Amino acid sequence: MVHTNIFNKIKYKSDAEIELIKLSALLVGQTLGEVAKHIRPGIPLIHLDRIAEEFIRDHHGIPSFKGYDGFPASLCLSVNDVVVHGIPSNEVLNDGDIISVDCGAILNGFHGDYAYTFEVGEVAEDVHLLVERTKESLYAGIEAAKEGNHIGDISHAVESYIRPFHYGIVEELCGHGIGRDMHEKPDIPNYGRPGVGPLIKRGMVFCIEPMICLGRRRIYMDNDGWTIHTYDRKPAAHFEHQLAVTEHGTEVISTYKYIEEALNNS
Ligand code: MG
Ligand code: MG
Repeated sequence: MVHTNIFNKIKYKSDAEIELIKLSALLVGQTLGEVAKHIRPGIPLIHLDRIAEEFIRDHHGIPSFKGYDGFPASLCLSVNDVVVHGIPSNEVLNDGDIISVDCGAILNGFHGDYAYTFEVGEVAEDVHLLVERTKESLYAGIEAAKEGNHIGDISHAVESYIRPFHYGIVEELCGHGIGRDMHEKPDIPNYGRPGVGPLIKRGMVFCIEPMICLGRRRIYMDNDGWTIHTYDRKPAAHFEHQLAVTEHGTEVISTYKYIEEALNNS
C-alpha cells in the first residue's frame, strides 16, 4: 500500500525498534508465503485475503490495511491493469494473469509492508518480462539505498533501470518511510535525479516499491476510491521491499524466501 503524508518528519529508529520491525517484516513474508501456496487459476481473490488475515491474526499480528482510511481488506490484490490498491472480490484468477499481492501487518506496534507480483499459469512473454524487470528495478533501487547516499539516488536507480525498456513509471504513488505508522517520511519516488532528497542515515526504515506499466504511465482511480488502473488497460507490475539502515549498513528486512519456497514446491 502506498500513500503520501506531507506533514511528518523522518522518524529515526533505535536498534531495539529495528529489531521489532524485523519481526513485523518477517510476519509479512510468512503471510505472503501462505498466500503464494494458493495462487492458481480459479481461486477467488477474497479467498487469498481470508488466508492472509487468518495467518496474520493466528500469529498475533494485526492486518494493517484493514480499516486503513476505510480499506475493507487485509491484502491489496491488483490483477493485470490494476496497478495497486485492488480490493479483493469474488473475481477469480485466470491463466495468464499477473497479480500484485501487497500485505501489511502490525506486530508489537510496528508495521511490516511489502509486495510481490505473481504470474498465474502461463503469462505472455512481454508481461513476464515486465514482471521480471520491475523486480530487477527494485533491486537496482536497493543497491542505491546506501548510507550516505540520498533518497534521490534510489529514485534515479529505479528510473535508470526501467527507462531502456520504454515502460511507464507511475509517478503519483511512491515508496515511504515506515515504523509505528505505515506511511512515514521520506517519500521515495520511482523516478528522479541523483543526489537530491534526504540523506540516507542510520535508523531509517523505509519501503521501496516500483510500480511499472507495460504501456503508458497514466493511471486513474476507480469509483471505489481505491483501485488504481492503468488508463490504457495494459498490465502493470509492483514489487516492494522493506529496508533498515543499521550499523551493518542497509539491510533488506523483508523476505521473499517463503514465497520462493512456495513457488518451488508448486
Ligand atoms: Mg505495500
Ligand atoms: Mg508500501
